[in-house]
Amino acid sequence: MKQEKSNLLYKEAIERIPGGVNSPVRACKSVNRNPLFIKKADGAYLFDEDGNRFIDYIGSWGPMILGHRDPDVISAITSVLEKGTSFGAPTNLEIKLANLIIDVIDSVEMVRMVNSGTEAAMSAVRLARGYTGRDIIIKFDGCYHGHADTFLVEAGSGVATLSIPGSPGVPKSVIEHTISVPYNDIDAVRKIMKEKGSMVAAIIVEPVAGNMGMVLPEKDFLVKLKELTLANGSVLIFDEVMTGFRVAHGGAQSVYGVDPDITCLGKIIGGGLPVGAYGGKKEIMRYIAPEGPVYQAGTLSGNPVAMAAGIATLTKLGEPGFYDALSEKANYLAKGLKLAAKNAGVNVKVYTAGSMLGLFFTDKEVKNFDDAKKCNSDMFVKYYTNMLERGIYLAPSAFEALFVSSVHGKELLDKTIEAAEESMKEI
Ligand SMILES: *Cc1c(COP(=O)(O)O)cnc(C)c1O
Repeated sequence: MKQEKSNLLYKEAIERIPGGVNSPVRACKSVNRNPLFIKKADGAYLFDEDGNRFIDYIGSWGPMILGHRDPDVISAITSVLEKGTSFGAPTNLEIKLANLIIDVIDSVEMVRMVNSGTEAAMSAVRLARGYTGRDIIIKFDGCYHGHADTFLVEAGSGVATLSIPGSPGVPKSVIEHTISVPYNDIDAVRKIMKEKGSMVAAIIVEPVAGNMGMVLPEKDFLVKLKELTLANGSVLIFDEVMTGFRVAHGGAQSVYGVDPDITCLGKIIGGGLPVGAYGGKKEIMRYIAPEGPVYQAGTLSGNPVAMAAGIATLTKLGEPGFYDALSEKANYLAKGLKLAAKNAGVNVKVYTAGSMLGLFFTDKEVKNFDDAKKCNSDMFVKYYTNMLERGIYLAPSAFEALFVSSVHGKELLDKTIEAAEESMKEI
């Protein structure tokens, strides 16, 4: 595979941008490579500066559920551009996107738009603290809620990939209010709630964890979290930045039948533009300024271009059968990957939730961050490299999920499965 042009650009980039990238996981450090510089994308494909073509399973880390350059999304963005890019005043588009979210996610009665998932989770926690008048936050090891101070304790995604235990620059006084416990460990949560329940503002969780690879919640884990927060007057926050409109139309909460008090969204709802949102019951959301005392604001929040991309995307997701067809693709791929591994004599565990997939190099079930960390990382690096050489673009970290889009046709899935079998045989 040619990589001369990307390598040259990388050399230039690292002198001007820390690590040459504007988000750490893109640097491909954990797979011992230089990043590929992307020139363009179309449908399920990415094209790099050297002219290589890849079948894309990152989908910009989640947003591109319709594939790249969906014609309806592009035309919605284009038509808004002719009217302006930002007004700093309310528009009809914001109501439309709010409605598309509220109509589908039962627990959300009101929603506030922000510019990223980080902002959504950060603001949700501030709201929970303001609403309860408490400070403690319970989170789970290996879950990622963006890069706000509060969450940089045993975090997933790039923090896990780069083995950063926390981060310098985060005051102890901030994270002393954060308690992180193993995912799926309801007894650990119960114990903390027994001791400190009256001081716990919120439990925040990825209802399907997608930032330590993909890890499913065990039966009743989410139900029990709901019971514990109810009993202690704490707020339950589902961080559905990744899972919202991904694992099902109504998000993971619709699959597991648990209504959180606050839901964080991002990624898909922006249709490839920078958007995040947090929403919930009116009673709680009315605590946000200007209706309430909890302050949160944004110069470009709800800007028309991003709203238009979100509206076009969510409108298409509402078409009958969309999610059934998408899940079918993911299940087909998962089945194929399992068989590929079997044929190659390699032990893997493959999980799916809607169109999210997790593949771990292990023979044991993966239920939490510790399990994920015990998987064979050397095998992952080799697999990743072999797949890339065969034109399959996977996340450059064992602690990330795979995403299938609606334009990943059977032919591309078969190609991927074939490449996986060859790649695993060469490990
Ligand atoms: C991606 C992600 C975030 C952070 O969103 P950004 O837009 O990158 O700030 C937060 N929570 C979850 C679950 C995510 O997957």
